[in-house]
Amino acid sequence: MMKRIRLCLWAVCFLAGAIGVQAADSLKVLVITGTHKYDNPAFNAMFEQLDGLDCTVKEMGKDPGALFENIEDFAYDAIVMYNFRQTLSEPHRKNFLKLLDKGVGLTVMHHAIAGFPDWIEYENIVGATYVLKEQTRDGKHYPRPTWKHDMDMNIKVEDSNHPITRGVTDFTIHDETYKGWIYHDGNHLLLSTGHELSNHQIAWTHPHPKTSVFFIQLGHDKQSYDNPSLRRLIRQGIIWTAQQKN
Ligand SMILES: [Zn+2]
Repeated sequence: MMKRIRLCLWAVCFLAGAIGVQAADSLKVLVITGTHKYDNPAFNAMFEQLDGLDCTVKEMGKDPGALFENIEDFAYDAIVMYNFRQTLSEPHRKNFLKLLDKGVGLTVMHHAIAGFPDWIEYENIVGATYVLKEQTRDGKHYPRPTWKHDMDMNIKVEDSNHPITRGVTDFTIHDETYKGWIYHDGNHLLLSTGHELSNHQIAWTHPHPKTSVFFIQLGHDKQSYDNPSLRRLIRQGIIWTAQQKN
């Protein structure tokens, strides 16, 4: 019953957002940043302006463990990771995983593909990783990936029937490319690009037994934060990930 009520509330939020009205009962979203520079005012403005979502941005340092010290009263329906090169202690990792098992949604954005580089389980949850130094895995050599700022990328919608891409058509965005990350099997591809300096995959969902996980590579700076297609994808992605919360 609680799940049905929450889904109804979600539908109200979604419809309210679709017509540009701030929903009274918003989904609560925790946005975690840290150890990577970004345009804070523009980033915060984007999350403040996502209709129907009550987003709290927490700028953390190297260790965001304080957010997962006590999860009994965890107040958020979804988490967005915009962190980089952070670490979590074993107890904090366990609590983070418990939140996902409770259905708290997970969106991973841009440089957070390298959010916890030493945590293989997190990589498996996201469905990819951006290795920060060259390495060999299972006999296969992976060079250090590359990136390039200020590129115009043509983005193709690979699955236009998914709730995350609803209303989004192919678009161009001024953003940063990443190339050479390790991409796992099992991802459901939502967006791609043919840009020569980028990996083909741009956004996907990755299956999780208890919650929903969405990754999007876009989102380097103000020029991408202000892109209406990116905002729509982020908003619809967060809402989709929060559906499993009960
Ligand atoms: Zn970037």
